[in-house]
Amino acid sequence: MEKKSVHSLQLVFRKHSVYPSLCEPMDRGTRRVTKTKLIDDDCRLISGDFLLHEDGSYSVSKGYEDVIEVIPGENRIITRSFQNWHTHSAMVLNKSFGEGLPLMEWLETAIFPVEKGLTPQFVKIGTLAAAAEMISTGTTFACDMYYFPEIVANSFSKSGIRAKVCGAVSDKDEINDSKSALKDIEKLLSSGHNQSDRIEYGIGPHSVYTCEEETLKKSSELSKKYDCSLSIHASETRKEVTDCYEIHEMYPIEYLESIDFLSECTICAHCGWVTKKEMRILSGNGSHAVHCPTSNQKLACGGTLSYPAMKDAEVSVFLGTDGAASNNSLDMRSEAKTASLIQKHDHWDASILNPEETWKLATNKSKDWITWDLEDIRLRPWGKKGSRLLSNLLYSGGNILDVFVSGEAVRRNGITLTINEKEIAKELENSVEDYYDS
Ligand SMILES: [Zn+2]
Repeated sequence: MEKKSVHSLQLVFRKHSVYPSLCEPMDRGTRRVTKTKLIDDDCRLISGDFLLHEDGSYSVSKGYEDVIEVIPGENRIITRSFQNWHTHSAMVLNKSFGEGLPLMEWLETAIFPVEKGLTPQFVKIGTLAAAAEMISTGTTFACDMYYFPEIVANSFSKSGIRAKVCGAVSDKDEINDSKSALKDIEKLLSSGHNQSDRIEYGIGPHSVYTCEEETLKKSSELSKKYDCSLSIHASETRKEVTDCYEIHEMYPIEYLESIDFLSECTICAHCGWVTKKEMRILSGNGSHAVHCPTSNQKLACGGTLSYPAMKDAEVSVFLGTDGAASNNSLDMRSEAKTASLIQKHDHWDASILNPEETWKLATNKSKDWITWDLEDIRLRPWGKKGSRLLSNLLYSGGNILDVFVSGEAVRRNGITLTINEKEIAKELENSVEDYYDS
C-alpha cells in the first residue's frame, strides 16, 4: 500500500473523528504494545511489552526503542491474523439469496441467472463490503475467484489486505466466454503491474464440469508461464465425481493430473469426495486442498474434506469460507470452529483438530497481527496463566480491535480505517436493489 501523505492522513482522521489520536496509525512502522498478551504461530501465550515490526516479526520491548505508536495493551490479546484460502468476495451481493437449495440447483436457478446482470461497479462494491467484513473479523488475506479481476484487485488494494485475485474462467458463462476471460487475465499477468505488493493475480477455472479440457489446459499453461496461482473447485459433490468418471473414467483429481493441471500453484477448493489415491496425487504434485466446511454443509454436499486422511497423505491443507452466498459469513474464526467440529464429528474422534492445530490451519503462517478485546465476556474465564484463552478465542469468539498489515494499521480501536463501513453498507444495499432488478 502506498504510504499516506499527511493530507490523506487528516482525511482518514476526520472520517473517524471519534478517535482523536488516530493521525499516526496509518503510518508504517514498528509499534509498542505494553502490558499485553501475545500468541504467535507456536500457540504459546506470552505476556509483557512487545514490539510489532513492519516485516511481521515481533520482539520483546525494552521500552526505549523508536516506535511510531505506543498502544496500551492491558485490554488486548495479540494473535496472528486469519487467511481465507477460498472465496468469491463480491458474492456478498448474493448473500442470503436462494436459501434452501442444493448446490447444482442453487447455481443453475439462483446464482448463474442473476450473475448475467453483474457489472464492474457491483463487483467493486461487493468486494469492498467483503473486505470490510474480513478486516472486522481479523482476516488479512483472501484467495479470491471472481469476474472483473482488475476491479477486484483495485478493491483489495484499497482495503489494505493481501489477496490472490484469480480471474474466473468458465465455458458455461454468459458474462465472459473462457477465451476472452483467459486473454484478459493474461494481459493482467503479463503487464506485471499490480496495484500493490499485497496483490497477486492468478487464474480461476471454475471446475471440471464448467470448463472444457482445452480451457483447463490453457489455464494450466498460463499458470506455469507466469508462475501464478491456479484455483479450481474440485470434487465438491458426488454428482461431479460420478459425472467426471462417466466421461473420463477417472475421478476429478486423477483427471486433472492426466491433463497436467496439478502443480504447486494449484489450489483445489472443497475436495469433499476424493479417494486416498487422489490425496496422494495432490501430495505428489505439491498441490493444495482447501477445506470449506460451512459451504459444504449449507449446500448439502454430503461430504467434506477428510482432514486426518489428507494429513496422512501429507497434502497441504488450507481453510476457506467460500463466498458469502454459500456461507452467509466471511468470518474465518467461525469457519475454524466449524472445521474443528465437523472433523471431530465425522471421524468420531474428539482429539482431531485440537485448538492449536485448528488455529494454525486458520492462520496459516500469517505475517500479520490482529488484536482482540480481552475484556469481552466471551473470552472469560481466561484460566490460570491464560491457559483457556486460545480455546475461547476459537470456540467462543471475540471482537477484533486492531488489524496490522506490513506495519500499517488498517483497523484501530474497532474502526476500519481503509473502508468506511457505513458508506459501503449503504452502497451495498443500493447495489443489491439494482442488481436484482436488472
Ligand atoms: Zn467456491
